[in-house]
Amino acid sequence: MSARPSALPIAVIGAGFSGTMAAIRLLDSLPHDRPVLLCERSASFGRGLAYGTGDMGHFLNLRASNMSAFPDRPRHFEQWLARNALDLPPEMASGIRVTPAGTFASRALYGRYLSEILTETVTGSGPPRLQLVNDAVTDLAPGPGSFSLRTEGGLRLPVAGAVLAMGNLAGTGEPHSSHRADLWSPETIGRLQPELPVLIVGTGLTMIDAVVSLRRRGFAGPVVALSRRGLLPSPHTPTEALPMPNLSAADLRSLSALTRRIRAATRASGEDWRSVIDSLRPITDYIWRSLTVAERGRFLRHLRPFWDVHRHRSAPPAAAAIAEDIAAGTLSVRAGRILSIKDEPSRAVVTLRPRGASEPERLTVQCILDATGIGRVSETSDPLLRRLIDRGLVRPGPFGLGLDVDTDFRARGQSLGGPLWTIGPLMRGALWECIAVPDIRNQAADLAAGIAAELARAQAA
Ligand SMILES: Cc1cc2nc3c(=O)[nH]c(=O)nc-3n(C[C@H](O)[C@H](O)[C@H](O)COP(=O)(O)OP(=O)(O)OC[C@H]3O[C@@H](n4cnc5c(N)ncnc54)[C@H](O)[C@@H]3O)c2cc1C
Repeated sequence: MSARPSALPIAVIGAGFSGTMAAIRLLDSLPHDRPVLLCERSASFGRGLAYGTGDMGHFLNLRASNMSAFPDRPRHFEQWLARNALDLPPEMASGIRVTPAGTFASRALYGRYLSEILTETVTGSGPPRLQLVNDAVTDLAPGPGSFSLRTEGGLRLPVAGAVLAMGNLAGTGEPHSSHRADLWSPETIGRLQPELPVLIVGTGLTMIDAVVSLRRRGFAGPVVALSRRGLLPSPHTPTEALPMPNLSAADLRSLSALTRRIRAATRASGEDWRSVIDSLRPITDYIWRSLTVAERGRFLRHLRPFWDVHRHRSAPPAAAAIAEDIAAGTLSVRAGRILSIKDEPSRAVVTLRPRGASEPERLTVQCILDATGIGRVSETSDPLLRRLIDRGLVRPGPFGLGLDVDTDFRARGQSLGGPLWTIGPLMRGALWECIAVPDIRNQAADLAAGIAAELARAQAA
């Protein structure tokens, strides 16, 4: 009797943390005759944007104790660090810092941890089921119950369905300037003059990385960091684990009621606000989904910058470096918005309106780094997403932040071809907490179990 032909693979597009963990969990959950393709356009698998940095001064913004890749082995990363710490060369060992707020590691070390997990999976025992495709996926052309996956390099591979794990999308880069450089590609920054300022647009965690990188490459000149409100992320401090606040329907009636309730919880507990924000984490998505669309819109317009600086905290070593830079007067953090940029041959003249000022101000800078973070699906120029949107296979979700997805990770759109699922930052809007490791690791396990169940049902039908 001949063996049953292998089932068509499931493709995972993007091999950052989300795609890598989704692929690993799929191998655990799917039957052995179902291969998995993990597709990545950059040279390194398992790192993605966050953990692909080689700069040891770029720290994880969560304690090492919160960064295990596996929800059922919560100390996995801490133990990996402890095992490896002694063998690291001094430069890499500087990427582990023990502070009163906990142990923090550099993101480059975390990237190494993830690559090792992936290598163990690829070289593990049994017939190979994970195929790595090092190419940019440009299309998923629908066929009967499947897709033809197409890549920039000209590959065409039939797949039963795909997981979109393409991570944070690039912003639009507006307003345009020929002096904009990509802070994740240091070679685009070029040689810097010592006196002329560098402008960083954004004052969050990415700005902190940018300043750390500029200083490490020897630039000691002035840096101006600008955002609408000029808010800096709060640093981690030691926190107490508090029980979840008991929110009532009345608390969730409006954003104002909810904000009052959380402020009251902070006062009543007498604890640091960080502990109160942390205690909300298991129910943050429930709260997000409970708010009406109008209230979620109000949150994005008015409260999000405050939420972000309280929720996404900086690692103590990074926070200390930034505080020193501000105290020395070499970094100035400004509130305001850019009105226009006029390019000159070796500099850009930026016209900005400082927050609360009636008159605009001019700032001459040599380089502009975009640290505003995340682009919107509705504005993306990503070729794969644009094609999927144009065919109606996926559509922008709430506020265009991510894709429109069901609670079972299925992208909503026309049901042509095979199923499409999503994980990670592309779910933002449908979920609120889907961009950090502690959330994505759970979602990867749930997603894989859901895909396995769906394919089994389809096969049985
Ligand atoms: C600078 C930074 C620091 C962060 N620090 C932390 C932290 O300390 N702790 C934490 O929990 N979270 C952190 N995060 C949050 C981070 O979003 C998640 O932890 C996680 O890394 C997200 O992974 P991802 O795979 O979804 O996205 P990404 O890391 O963006 O990976 C997506 C991958 O998809 C690939 N790709 C995209 N399109 C295609 C295509 N068409 N074909 C093939 N490949 C494609 C990209 O090349 C990329 O490698 C940080 C985020 C950033 C940006």
